[in-house]
Amino acid sequence: MSRLSILFAASEMAPWVKTGGLGDVAAALPAALAKAQQDIRVLLPCYPALRAAFPAAKEVALLPALAPLLPPARLLAADADGLPLLLVDCPQLYDRPGNPYVDTHGRDWTDNGLRFGLLSRVAALLGQSHSPLDWRPDVVHANDWQTALAPAFLHYEGGAASVLTVHNVSFPGCFDPHLLHGLGLPDRAWRFDGVEYHGNLCFLKAGLQLAPLISTVSPTYAREIQDKHFGYGLAPLLHYRADALRGILNGIDDAIWNPATDPALEAPYAANRLASKRQNKAALQAQLGLAVRDDVPLFGVISRLTHQKGVDLLHPLGKAITHLPAQLVVLGSGEKELEAGFRELAEPHPDAVSVTVGFNETLAHRIEAGADIFVMPSRFEPCGLNQMYSLAYGTPPVVRATGGLADTVVDVNEATLLDKTANGFVFHHPSSHDLWIAMERAARAWKDRRTWLRIQQNGMRNDFSWRHAAGEYLQLYRDAVAARG
Ligand code: ADP
Repeated sequence: MSRLSILFAASEMAPWVKTGGLGDVAAALPAALAKAQQDIRVLLPCYPALRAAFPAAKEVALLPALAPLLPPARLLAADADGLPLLLVDCPQLYDRPGNPYVDTHGRDWTDNGLRFGLLSRVAALLGQSHSPLDWRPDVVHANDWQTALAPAFLHYEGGAASVLTVHNVSFPGCFDPHLLHGLGLPDRAWRFDGVEYHGNLCFLKAGLQLAPLISTVSPTYAREIQDKHFGYGLAPLLHYRADALRGILNGIDDAIWNPATDPALEAPYAANRLASKRQNKAALQAQLGLAVRDDVPLFGVISRLTHQKGVDLLHPLGKAITHLPAQLVVLGSGEKELEAGFRELAEPHPDAVSVTVGFNETLAHRIEAGADIFVMPSRFEPCGLNQMYSLAYGTPPVVRATGGLADTVVDVNEATLLDKTANGFVFHHPSSHDLWIAMERAARAWKDRRTWLRIQQNGMRNDFSWRHAAGEYLQLYRDAVAARG
């Protein structure tokens, strides 16, 4: 099949600028596509972290003011371990400390409409015949609201095919209507089936309306966001565009999340060498001051402590867990009340409950390896990574059936044990009661060592590689190019 040229436009990219899942995808997916011999470049704003990481970035174009409110900018080219980056250099908009979206008080930068309007504008320009570069993409891949105006510009002005991926539909990017002219959009774009949304210029809505094909990060989330409980105000539009909407599950980086090679672990292990997983449990218990014992299951949680993640459903179960008996280890940070609540949970039971408030990558790896059962009771979960890490680490997860959790975890029952798909424990209703029933089921199954081994091995043999996801994105790009004719 012919090689495609792809411009991947994003507002963050790990490890340099990352606030969430988009940052990971922007690093891993383009790398996987490059490995699959595709001609891909990643377009990003030149934040201070990127300027520092790529001091040798070369100017490849001068961009004049592209619209009445957009300042002139430069386009820089850099090389990230063989992956070409294009950086929009506009210090007036991007040379700011910290987070890409909010100031030090956590408030949105007031000129975010211009900052990401410029990024979207440049992404579209590079896909058009008057691009300042010789390199021309067949397809522009926009991601989340920050680049979602690119498909709108391409729709109204012509140019490359485009696709838009939504990583989290709860951030729409809505701005004052004067930006329509300010960003150079035509008057005719101001329609309910254009870029207008409740009297505002809405970036995400514009992209969802006008990109020829759209995707999100799991098949179940693709269905859920067509429902008003998940899709916020955009559910009717997403439902209307259902034929153009696909769900493509994110992958995990198996160079970093692999129990056979993970340097953070006490003892490496694999699906056919699971015995040494036990040493990781003992080491974790000792490290955290829990009783070192293998006759009770150890539940693990690594999570942002927020309502979305459903950890408030777990909190009331603390006592019941110790009575089961079982142990619980929690690593997370987020809402202050939840942080305090979990801390209090640990105090009376230091030998059975450990709570670490904070962000700790090494401990996260050690929990994935040392816990017996992972717990992820999310209310919604576009894709989710931790359940996939848990499956890869032989730590069967207890999850709520939502988004990517529903697409990756297969509930243990007679039929799924027989067909070798059983890899975890699924509950449906978001309540402590239903979570508890699933956790008890998991604890009982854990006691039956032969069945447990089968469940662990089923999960460890799942393929969540980016190679697989990259193939699906490539098909999406080909379909977008074909639809353009
Ligand atoms: P989300 O992106 O919604 O927070 P995911 O499960 O998709 O949830 O990804 C969370 C990522 O962040 C995982 O890599 C997880 O291990 C990591 N993580 C979350 N909280 C912590 C923490 N307190 N310490 C270390 N890693 C964490």
